[in-house]
Amino acid sequence: MGRIYNFSAGPAVLPEEVLKEAQEEMLDYRGCGMSVMEMSHRSKAFEQIITEAEQDIRDLLHISEEYEVLFLQGGASTQFAMIPMNLMKNKKAEYIITGQWAKKAFKEACIYGDARAIASSEDKTFSYIPDCSNLPIREDADYVYICENNTIYGTKFKTLPNTNGKPLVADVSSCFLSEPMEVEKYGLIYGGAQKNIGPAGVVIVIIRKDLISEEPLTGTPTMLRYKIHADAKSLYNTPPAYGIYICGKVFKWLKNIGGLEIIQKKNEEKAKLLYEFLDQSRLFKGTVRKEDRSLMNVPFVTGDKELDAKFVKEAKEAGLENLKGHRTVGGMRASIYNAMPKEGVEKLVEFMENFEKVNR
Ligand SMILES: *Cc1c(COP(=O)(O)O)cnc(C)c1O
Repeated sequence: MGRIYNFSAGPAVLPEEVLKEAQEEMLDYRGCGMSVMEMSHRSKAFEQIITEAEQDIRDLLHISEEYEVLFLQGGASTQFAMIPMNLMKNKKAEYIITGQWAKKAFKEACIYGDARAIASSEDKTFSYIPDCSNLPIREDADYVYICENNTIYGTKFKTLPNTNGKPLVADVSSCFLSEPMEVEKYGLIYGGAQKNIGPAGVVIVIIRKDLISEEPLTGTPTMLRYKIHADAKSLYNTPPAYGIYICGKVFKWLKNIGGLEIIQKKNEEKAKLLYEFLDQSRLFKGTVRKEDRSLMNVPFVTGDKELDAKFVKEAKEAGLENLKGHRTVGGMRASIYNAMPKEGVEKLVEFMENFEKVNR
């Protein structure tokens, strides 16, 4: 049995080099005589792992000392609560609703304060990014929230919203490290690791230091305070140590490739192959407005549910797995994250061409 081409939206494909390295170090991490899973998070060896991981992501994204980088747990979804609990000083926040993840974050924020949905693309099944150049942002809003890449619907913000100077908070789970980012344009950036970075459970938060509140909302648990984790350098309690170790390896893999400009180029090439095929196909159709298309998640349909199901089944038999679309969109979705080789996308396009010939 060889490895398949895994088009899953998450947990998703990781670089084979990274998995092999982890395999080699599994029983005896660099002469420690034990695996990273078995060692103290206070040990010298682990201290080096987490320190290097932080430095490497700082290098990749050019993160300045104005920002704290935190390795937390609870996945991206825990941030849905942690953000309002820590950032809602005036208990007011503005949310842009571009899909299920933004909606969930918005609902969670409503528990803690006066969160408002100020723009949405729900009218057309989230198939586009709404115009965010002139939003009705309140003078005393604490932040403006976006989900930058919409994993389920395959849309991506190509221009950041005009926040009228309010801190921008972005969920980048499914586009994390897929291209360079201007970190200084954000107040807080966060992403769950399992889409582009590493194992599920780890969530990375990049937060501007002045937004780390000494006094979050009353009742905020200790574990949900950014201040606690920032002061302890992500070692307040036992962190998701093995997950952080794998994230660190993925950062080094990206650095070795040549950094985010290079991975962006590769991602653009892969996405172009698939989108160009979709645009000329007479059977398959992309579901997203062209200018808002994601480089990471590519949803498409045939328009016939039975044919969609047949496609997913036959693709799996050909070694192209997890192409079924999200249940709220139907059809198919190919997630082509950083670690998906170009060859995988070429195989997919070739398979689609043949499928189209037989089934039209
Ligand atoms: C997957 C995903 C989440 C949820 O991540 P969990 O780690 O399962 O909580 C949130 N936001 C986006 C954009 C995602 O793709």
